[in-house]
Amino acid sequence: MRLDAAIADATARLSRSSDSPRLDAEILLCRTIDMPRSYLFAHPEDVLDEMTLERFEDVIARRISGEPMAYIMGVKEFWSHELAVSPATLVPRPETELLVDLALREIPRKAEWDVLDLGTGSGAIAVAIASERPMCRITAVDVSEDALAVARENVRKLSLGNVELAHGSWTAPVQGQTFNIIVSNPPYVRSDDTALLKLQHEPQSALAAGIDGLDAIRILAADCGALLADDGILLIEHGAEQKRDVAALLGKHGWTDICCHNDLAGQPRVTVARRGGK
Ligand code: GLN
Repeated sequence: MRLDAAIADATARLSRSSDSPRLDAEILLCRTIDMPRSYLFAHPEDVLDEMTLERFEDVIARRISGEPMAYIMGVKEFWSHELAVSPATLVPRPETELLVDLALREIPRKAEWDVLDLGTGSGAIAVAIASERPMCRITAVDVSEDALAVARENVRKLSLGNVELAHGSWTAPVQGQTFNIIVSNPPYVRSDDTALLKLQHEPQSALAAGIDGLDAIRILAADCGALLADDGILLIEHGAEQKRDVAALLGKHGWTDICCHNDLAGQPRVTVARRGGK
């Protein structure tokens, strides 16, 4: 089959499962033949041999089943870094860049702060902050060993000497330590949210957090204060409809200066708070 015909055929079959069927087909074909996209336009008449076509069919079938492009490609762009991802980690979302942006606004450029990232997954937030603030020391925690393996690969790929990974549940592995700022993109989807059905390829433990989606944020609100220095800052990503609940939870645990920020779509998605007096 010619390249142009293979693309047209795959595009038609992907149109139900993808918002960008042609782009996906082109990218997956490039990956299969290990050529840049320009090659597809320069050589539409090239013919795919049987074996190559079979490999292309395999990745198209994965995409039709709803598997995210990032898992098929094994990488995802986040904060200008090409990060490794695997089904053990969430695919980093563009909206999480708001959390990074807000954290960087808090951390002075030359600061030598201790930063904690709870539930780091692929390490996206940790490596973004580590690369922008090389004088800071970042500790990135995750309960999943498989996720930490991906984070480790990203730290190595980007040659970051200021990120340490720790295995365990939330604050457990860093008890007794003190940080200047804590960031987290915890699971926050309601366990009965039908949106989860579309996210079945991603680790549910990184997405769902109890019936109101607040189980993980409850833990963060209760436990992070003890790990922060005076005036320490907490930043949490959450769902657009959780702004008030998150503020109430933080208020209940004595956090002050609670302020929620909107993402580019105008949705309230990241709350920043300061540790109140102990
Ligand atoms: N923003 C993600 C989604 O709804 C959820 C990420 C999370 O739970 N941390 O697709």
